[in-house]
Amino acid sequence: MDHFNYQNGELHCEDVPLARISEDVGTPAYVYSTATLLHHYDAVAKAFAEVRPIICYSIKSCANLSICRLLRERGAGFDVVSGGELYRALAADGDPANIVFAGVGKTDAEIHQAIDARIGWFNIESEAELENLIAIARLRGASVNAALRVNPDVDPKTHRYTSTGKKESKFGVDLERARRVFNDYGRQDAVRLTGIHLHIGSPVNSVEPYVSAITKTLGLIDALRGDGFAIDTLDIGGGFGAHYKASEAPPAVRYAEAIVPLLRGRGLKIILEPGRSIAANAGILLTRVLYLKKSGERDFLIVDAGMNDLIRPALYEAYHFIWPVAPAAGFVPAQRGEGVSMPGLRLMDVVGPVCESGDFLAKDRMLPPMQRGDLVAVFTAGAYGMVMASHYNTRPNPPEILVDGNQYRVVRRRETYEDLLAAERE
Ligand SMILES: *Cc1c(COP(=O)(O)O)cnc(C)c1O
Repeated sequence: MDHFNYQNGELHCEDVPLARISEDVGTPAYVYSTATLLHHYDAVAKAFAEVRPIICYSIKSCANLSICRLLRERGAGFDVVSGGELYRALAADGDPANIVFAGVGKTDAEIHQAIDARIGWFNIESEAELENLIAIARLRGASVNAALRVNPDVDPKTHRYTSTGKKESKFGVDLERARRVFNDYGRQDAVRLTGIHLHIGSPVNSVEPYVSAITKTLGLIDALRGDGFAIDTLDIGGGFGAHYKASEAPPAVRYAEAIVPLLRGRGLKIILEPGRSIAANAGILLTRVLYLKKSGERDFLIVDAGMNDLIRPALYEAYHFIWPVAPAAGFVPAQRGEGVSMPGLRLMDVVGPVCESGDFLAKDRMLPPMQRGDLVAVFTAGAYGMVMASHYNTRPNPPEILVDGNQYRVVRRRETYEDLLAAERE
C-alpha cells in the first residue's frame, strides 16, 4: 500500500500530480507521501501494540527533519547510528529517553554527546567499545543504560551487504561471547548493562529469521537471568521488508503474529527499529528523460538522476520499478513491479549522467515508448535514497518534497553550486 497512483493516466502522489511538483522544483527530486509514512508507522504500532513497544524510527533510512518530526509527533523515538543522527533526532524534538544509539565505531566525542543528551540506550557492539563507554561514564560520574548487541547467527537471506546477523558479521557479539561480556562487565554501575539488542539485516522478507533469532536470544536472556543479571529490555531492531519487485514484503501484522507470542509475559520492555518498512515506498525519485540513445543492440534511456542521487542499484544490485509519470495511452500499468507486460514495451537500460559504468538505475527493463522531456518515476526510493546521495561529479543534491493530501512542501531545497563549495571557502 502506498499513495502513488495513476489518476487519469497521470501519476499522483496523494492528490498532487507529480508533473506539478516538477514544474515547481525541477528534477531530479525526491517526493514523499505523508499518508504513506503515517500508514506504515501506524501499522507497526498497531500490530505490536500488545507488547507496548518503543518504536525507534531508524533515521538512517530517510533522515529529513520534517519526516523525523512527523513520525516523532506520531509517537516515534529514534534509532541513531552517529553523532550527526543524534543531533538530527534532537533537532526533531526527539525524546532523549526514546533514543537508542548503535554502531560499531562510536567515537569518544559521540559518546560524550550522547551522555550529555541523556539518551535511552547505548547499543554496544564490542567489549572494547563497552570498556571505553565505562571509562567515559566513570570520568563523567554518569550512569547510562546499555544493551549488548548480539549476533544470533541467522541468515536473513538478503544481499550480502545488508546481512548483519551472521556470525562472521562485524556487528554485535555472538551468543557465547555475550555471556562472558556480562560476566566481565555486567556488575558495575557506570554502564547498566540491562538490555539485549538484535538487528539481523534488511530487508528480511520472511518471519522465520526473526523467530529463530529471537528464540535463541530469549535462551540467552534466561541464562543471563539465571546468572543473576537483571535483563529488562529487548530491542529486536529493524529490517522489515518493503515492496520493490511486487508485494513481496509481509505486512507488519504478519511479523507481529510470529514475534509477539514469543515475547508475551517475558517481563521485557520491547524496542523496535523500523526504517525501510516505513520510508521505502513512501518516496519516489522523480527524474526526467534527457536523451534516448542506441548503442549496438542496446537502448539507453538517459535521465537526469544518477548514482549520486540513488546509489542502491549500483551498490546492492537493487531493483526499483521505473515507469513514466504520464505514459502514452494504453501504458498505465495495472500493477507495479517486476514482470509488467503489455504489447509495445522496449528493452532498455535506464542510466544517469555520471561518468561511471555503474551509474544505472535499471538494466534490461521493459519500458513503454518515451521521449526527451518525459518525466519518469523511480519507485520505492524513500529509504536509503536521499540519505546516500553524494556530490560525485559535483552534482548538487536534489530537493525533497513532502506531500500531504492536495498540498506539498519543499522540506529540503535543491542545493546550489555555492552550497557545494561553501565548506571549501573557509
Ligand atoms: C539500519 C538499521 C535499522 C533499520 O533497518 P531497516 O531495514 O531500515 O528497518 C535498525 N537498526 C539498526 C541497528 C540499523 O543499523
